[in-house]
Amino acid sequence: NNTMRKDYTANPLPVTSDLEGISLKSTQEHQKLYEGYVKKTNEVQAKLETVDRSAANGVYSEYGEMKRQETFAVNGMKLHEIYFRLLGGDGEVGGALRTLIERDFGSVEAWKEDFTATGISARGWAVLAYDTSDNRLHNYAMDAQNVGAVWGAVPLVPMDVYEHAYFMDHGVNRKAYIEAFIRQIDWSVVRELAERQGVVA
Ligand code: FE
Repeated sequence: NNTMRKDYTANPLPVTSDLEGISLKSTQEHQKLYEGYVKKTNEVQAKLETVDRSAANGVYSEYGEMKRQETFAVNGMKLHEIYFRLLGGDGEVGGALRTLIERDFGSVEAWKEDFTATGISARGWAVLAYDTSDNRLHNYAMDAQNVGAVWGAVPLVPMDVYEHAYFMDHGVNRKAYIEAFIRQIDWSVVRELAERQGVVA
């Protein structure tokens, strides 16, 4: 067994009230899915230590299937942690992040238009990310938590567009949810993330 392994702990839900277009009930249910990803990350990583590596196989093997689900659970954990913290702001972006958005998208409005289209297109997540390969911001679309992630890109604004994120409040009207989300991004949280990752000074 790998004694270096460390369990993850789920963060408490930072949202405590209804948001405009995103109800507390929906967010509380969503939190349960997040807690599930944390639990499954710990479970799959612990179990991987006991699975027969010599039987690993790309078509089917216990080890291979678990390695696939590991990335789904880990990304689910990471992206939701940022997602919940971003909710509940005033949507106003200023300072160095605004400058970066204007440089790489032309304007904040142009970014929003593209981010909305990315969110409508994606089957899992739309992510505003800073790619350390070209030092630019990109809106990336992920069809699942482990499909579409770009290596070396720092997620700054992950927007969950799985149906569970909006069906309770909006039914099939994903665009109404996306607009509500964008209007309530807490950019001070994004700023703190970007500073910690060295994206902005
Ligand atoms: Fe989700």
